[in-house]
Amino acid sequence: MAVEFEIVRGDITRFPAEAIVNAANKYLEHGGGVAYAIAKAAAGNAREYIRISKEAMREQLGKDHIDHGEVVVTPGMRLEKYGIRYVIHTVGPYCGGIWDDEKKGKLRKAIIGALRKAEELGVKTIASPAISAGIYGCPLEEVVKTFKEVVEEFKAETRGVEKVYLVLYSEDAYRTALKAVTS
Ligand code: ADP
Repeated sequence: MAVEFEIVRGDITRFPAEAIVNAANKYLEHGGGVAYAIAKAAAGNAREYIRISKEAMREQLGKDHIDHGEVVVTPGMRLEKYGIRYVIHTVGPYCGGIWDDEKKGKLRKAIIGALRKAEELGVKTIASPAISAGIYGCPLEEVVKTFKEVVEEFKAETRGVEKVYLVLYSEDAYRTALKAVTS
């Protein structure tokens, strides 16, 4: 079955996909943005979630940071009530308003790493926020286009994942994202 890609408006912390992606920083500190929102929603408090994430990182990667393309998985915890079984933490590039091939390459790695992990976990549905389009300052249009391209490529290798959602938080971001893939 071919994997479908859909852009939706919503809150990733309560989006009913089996796995959600966290736009994390490399130390899984979850200090702000979507990472903080996921941390609070999943564990009740961010500090506890940071502890759990760092422990998972040690176990899964054997080190204390994530490189682009690597991911760490934590259980859904309180998010399980929405059907979210896993959180896949991935790290996108820092852009600070600058977009070039290097940033794009790092973003591609961050996205494909999360999608491959979803495949490995055996989930059918995965939802991601617009990685790097917030605090990390990458242009939303480029992030959305890159997302679409990577999912397109992923179609050739996936057997189990059926649906990939790109979840935009604000109405504005949602409209911009839709425009970016239709223009
Ligand atoms: P980064 O540091 O990778 O840029 P951010 O957390 O700052 O990560 O933002 C990534 C994107 O996630 C931004 O477009 C931001 O608006 C969006 N976002 C923030 N909170 C949520 C949420 N609850 N659900 C979905 N997207 C969110």
